[in-house]
Amino acid sequence: MGNSIRPWGRTTFLKKKTYTTFDGGESLPRLCLELLSEQKKAWQDLREGYELLKDVKERDVRCNGFSVCLQYNPRRIKSSTAVVDEKNTKESRCFLCLDHLPEGQRGVLYRGDYLILCNPMPVFSSHFTVSHLDHRLQAIAEHIGIFLQLAADFCPDWVVLYNGPKCGASAPDHLHFQAAPSRQMPIEKEIHEEKRLTLIKQVDDVLIYRAMGLGREVIILEGEDPIAMENALKNYLNALKKVLLIDEEPMMNIAGFHEGKEWRLMIFPRRKHRPDAFFKERDTRVVVSPGVIDMGGLLITPVEKDFERLDGASVEAIYKEVSLDRMTVEKTIDAIVGNVDLRSLPSLP
Ligand SMILES: [Zn+2]
Repeated sequence: MGNSIRPWGRTTFLKKKTYTTFDGGESLPRLCLELLSEQKKAWQDLREGYELLKDVKERDVRCNGFSVCLQYNPRRIKSSTAVVDEKNTKESRCFLCLDHLPEGQRGVLYRGDYLILCNPMPVFSSHFTVSHLDHRLQAIAEHIGIFLQLAADFCPDWVVLYNGPKCGASAPDHLHFQAAPSRQMPIEKEIHEEKRLTLIKQVDDVLIYRAMGLGREVIILEGEDPIAMENALKNYLNALKKVLLIDEEPMMNIAGFHEGKEWRLMIFPRRKHRPDAFFKERDTRVVVSPGVIDMGGLLITPVEKDFERLDGASVEAIYKEVSLDRMTVEKTIDAIVGNVDLRSLPSLP
């Protein structure tokens, strides 16, 4: 419904919506922070969003062997309860399409194909949406290269995030990523703890690890060569498809990091988007809608009652329900092709 713009119209919209352009060479985080500060002045809704962020409450919850941080963020209620089935998204206006962006919203034109926009419902002190200029389906396989490039342009002090279309993406029919400051999600620290990572395989020059004892399944790919990294992620996507007997993109969330010359992709394979408790009535309902940030250990609760009552056991149960189970993940590791199996070797520190 009005989601496509005629080609001659795009240039006009784009010109109006471009704050500045990034083609490499400059500091991308600096440009984005400049954009954010300009947008807080020019766009009231964004200013309000960031003002409300000052009132969010956070609380650490100790689980068995790991921790999460609960964030009570009432402004996220809209995205947490968004109807994301295909029928509904087709019928509603796409909020990421150039011609539907709010009047005051502008962005950084990124390498010709994406517009980096300020998220008006932030979870972090700076929170960006990297949106493709065209209305096209959320999918990672064909866009791994740009995801890695984004990580290289934003990092090391930022993280780039991807939510699969059926497990956290707020616009499942419009390709987008997110960018936010790093070291905000508890998992980023936890994976550096002793014995957390087990090296399981090597494909080309990419090392594949499994993170242990975090209450949810996490696969980590590490390597310096972008082509090898892209192939390794595709390889793992295919392994998931093979084991799950599906053709479409397997449900998962990805956090991408880049430091020195090395990329690290943290993959959360998923079984479900929302836990059953989300669909319950009244008092038994728990409004959590886990996407990549929640899987990273920063669990957003837009309802105060949930923020107060969730404890270690209930958080563990949520992760267990929405993460792909251990047995299946073990099968997916076996299904990775062309690899050296390292599981018989002792794990690295
Ligand atoms: Zn769109």
